[in-house]
Amino acid sequence: MAIEVVWFKRDLRTSDHSPLFEASSSNLPVLCLFLVEPQRLAQPDCDPIHIEWELDCAYELRKKLEATGANLDIMHKDALEAMEEIHAKHTISRIRSHEETGTSWSFDRDKRVSEWCVDNKVEWIEYPNNGVIRGMKGRDKWKTSRDRRMGLDLLAPPKRIAGVQSKHANATMQSIGMSRRQIIHRPIPGQDAAMDVLRSFLSSRGESYRWSMSSPSLAVDNCSRLAPYFSTGCISVRRVVQTTSSKMRRLKEARSRGEDVGGWLQSLSSFQSRLAWHCHFMQKLEMEPTLDTRAQNPLIDRGMNREMDEERFRAWSEGTTGWPFFDACMRSLIATGWINFRMRAMMMSAASYNLWLPWRETGLHLARQFLDYEPGIHWSQVGMQSGTTGINTVRAYSVIKQGRDHDPKGTFIRNWVSEMGSVPDKYIHEPWKMPQEIQNEVDCVIGKHYPSPIVDEASARKEGVRRTYAARSGEETREASKKVYQKHGSRRRPAVRRRGRGARDSRQAKLF
Ligand SMILES: Cc1cc2nc3c(=O)[nH]c(=O)nc-3n(C[C@H](O)[C@H](O)[C@H](O)COP(=O)(O)OP(=O)(O)OC[C@H]3O[C@@H](n4cnc5c(N)ncnc54)[C@H](O)[C@@H]3O)c2cc1C
Repeated sequence: MAIEVVWFKRDLRTSDHSPLFEASSSNLPVLCLFLVEPQRLAQPDCDPIHIEWELDCAYELRKKLEATGANLDIMHKDALEAMEEIHAKHTISRIRSHEETGTSWSFDRDKRVSEWCVDNKVEWIEYPNNGVIRGMKGRDKWKTSRDRRMGLDLLAPPKRIAGVQSKHANATMQSIGMSRRQIIHRPIPGQDAAMDVLRSFLSSRGESYRWSMSSPSLAVDNCSRLAPYFSTGCISVRRVVQTTSSKMRRLKEARSRGEDVGGWLQSLSSFQSRLAWHCHFMQKLEMEPTLDTRAQNPLIDRGMNREMDEERFRAWSEGTTGWPFFDACMRSLIATGWINFRMRAMMMSAASYNLWLPWRETGLHLARQFLDYEPGIHWSQVGMQSGTTGINTVRAYSVIKQGRDHDPKGTFIRNWVSEMGSVPDKYIHEPWKMPQEIQNEVDCVIGKHYPSPIVDEASARKEGVRRTYAARSGEETREASKKVYQKHGSRRRPAVRRRGRGARDSRQAKLF
């Protein structure tokens, strides 16, 4: 008997899931499928933390599906091979899936699957999964289309699904031959956990979001921490947008009754902007799937001529640069799989301007560390923070200033860089300035217990910025940047800078 396949990709949920919703009301048995594709495992941006997280989210999804009468086949196979095998056994009439925005390999794989479907007379229906609009050539209409999509009704999870009855594949880390890489404070997988995280953010953690997001310590609790759930699709962006809008409406009503709503409205307004950024950045990869290998403005990239320096790369990627705040951020990221936006930007900026390292290699290292790795956001941000788009302000962060601003007493540093445990506050950001006798006294001799700075932070950064502006100059390069803007630039007007509490956020908005 013919069947329908619901192919789960980065959408491991049953709620607000068009392919599953539609399949549940078709008159054919439904086989739910999730693939761990060998081709994907071979990509340089893939890390065991991603695969284990996806598998754990998939196991949670399977429990939900079982409650409806369906199941989930978790196969360790490339897509064509899996489809061939299922087709030979059951005859696939239709495949339903969400659209996927990934790098070239997934784009090419989808083209092959599409051809296979034509050859085998299988219908493949793809549904939008977020605010990314397929087939767009420029940005003029993007915001309207995205906002319209975010306003559509949420779909309820199907109550009954006529699942295909057969033995189900069940890939595990062990069966695919992948060793685990453990991270600490790992989130709880699955769609119920995603809803809990959203609820706790909107009921308590989020009030100081706007003022805490740039501190690596405060952001741990006060940022939403939804990103890993978005990257596996355990929750839809639309659900988060709508739930946040409802909360904002209630807050506005309360405020109009004279109630004190604290910092909630400002924080949630910042949060909504970031939810829009999520899709804005993914749209770039949708329109240019080579963003992980080719700079948005290749002329700038070529003009920069950054070269790999193994020693610098090792120090940067391991968190042994000799800049305590930077090292704390990198070590914290490696240990936990997460760090806040500002520090991600600083890490990329330090690699690109201070150390003049090529963005592809540094971007790959970060991709492998982020549990929430989302190619569309990631490679767009890597382009921005390495100065290779030609349409964004050159933003070269001082790692020492960032440390003083966001970790004034060095608590975060001491937490992650044990060598600095007894260094006095006065020297915590620049330990190389410590007199020798204090270095001996606190067991932190620079060059022995903790490295000397890999380069002079300020002068290397200035030189990096100078070289970047030099690479941006020239008629041909500027023309190429104009084209980048036409294709990818945000059409949103820059935020007006305000005084006081809001000022910090309008500065962030420039990063858009
Ligand atoms: C070099 C670099 C690489 C990055 N790589 C990724 C990545 O692989 N995956 C990823 O999800 N984010 C990435 N970001 C963006 C951002 O740092 C993370 O989305 C955020 O830190 C995730 O934590 P959160 O869910 O608590 O975010 P919150 O601050 O609570 O924001 C809510 C959601 O908004 C979206 N968002 C927030 N900031 C941004 C932003 N600047 N750009 C686009 N969307 C945003 C995310 O979906 C996030 O989950 C990167 C940023 C930089 C500078």
